[in-house]
Amino acid sequence: MREPALHDILAARKRMHGVAVRTPQIESPALSRKLGARVLIKLESLQRTGAFKVRGATNRIKSFTPEQRAAGVITFSTGNHGKAVAYVAGRLGLHAVVCLSEHVPAYRVERVRELGAEVVVKGKTQDEAEQEYYRLIAQRGLQPVVPFDDPFVIAGQGTIGLEMLEDEPALDTVLVQLSGGGLGAGVGLALKTINPQIRLIGVSIERSPALLECIKAGRPIELEEHETLADSLLGGVGMENRYTVELVRRYFDDHIVVDESEVALGMSYMLREHSLVVEGAGAVAIGALLYRDLGNLGNAIGVIASGSAVDIPVYLETVSRLLL
Ligand SMILES: *Cc1c(COP(=O)(O)O)cnc(C)c1O
Repeated sequence: MREPALHDILAARKRMHGVAVRTPQIESPALSRKLGARVLIKLESLQRTGAFKVRGATNRIKSFTPEQRAAGVITFSTGNHGKAVAYVAGRLGLHAVVCLSEHVPAYRVERVRELGAEVVVKGKTQDEAEQEYYRLIAQRGLQPVVPFDDPFVIAGQGTIGLEMLEDEPALDTVLVQLSGGGLGAGVGLALKTINPQIRLIGVSIERSPALLECIKAGRPIELEEHETLADSLLGGVGMENRYTVELVRRYFDDHIVVDESEVALGMSYMLREHSLVVEGAGAVAIGALLYRDLGNLGNAIGVIASGSAVDIPVYLETVSRLLL
């Protein structure tokens, strides 16, 4: 398959109707005051299923042929992508199978099941869940929906970039969190194609900066990873990565790496200032803007609150430590 282009993002947007919603982009007064620039937060935490992944899943699944759809879809995922596939398949009346490892927290497994998917829990690691996934594709003819390294998924996530620019055409800098890079590749493609002057800053977490390390090394590598508040950013980019590493390398001007205290700060900021629950992965860029001096970022800065899936006890502990 060829790389995605801007027209693929425009086509993806048409496919979103009735499945994904157009999320609000709000100004954040306290951050704007601190930075002396307008800070705009794209609230994908309010997206259907609580994360942006529904965009990529919608674009991928709606692009399958009727025969492919009839076979059903399958994915393996630590959470938000699995939920998105389950939800989109349900909306379109298709069967979905989601393979998860035993390591995935129970509350996430339950959410996927509630959305109507067949959940297959297999193995202690993501890799073992992935092997089960390949076995089921071969055995049952299910259509794979991968979480990031796919032109349709990238184009779907890219619709976020279109909406951000429509709501604020004068964006100077946009910070995007990176894990597998589907979000970064899509948003980067949209923003840089429409306005090459926009500065893009990739935000990785110290505990799993896999994509950034691959860009530095110039080849796919595997990293040991550690537990983090931003658990939706865990996972590698795949040893056979074809699209996202190259697109993120091409479109991003700078990269920063945030630590756990910045993630927690971003989460508690969103609750205190906006009464919004944002998961760690969604708060990394906000935490970085609060915590460090990133120099002159221009007059309008965009960030993406990418999701709202939290483990409630961990969330309450984290925010109450900072707020009470
Ligand atoms: C998947 C996800 C990300 C990272 O997206 P990639 O496309 O894997 O880089 C960020 N935030 C949330 C909430 C996610 O679910």
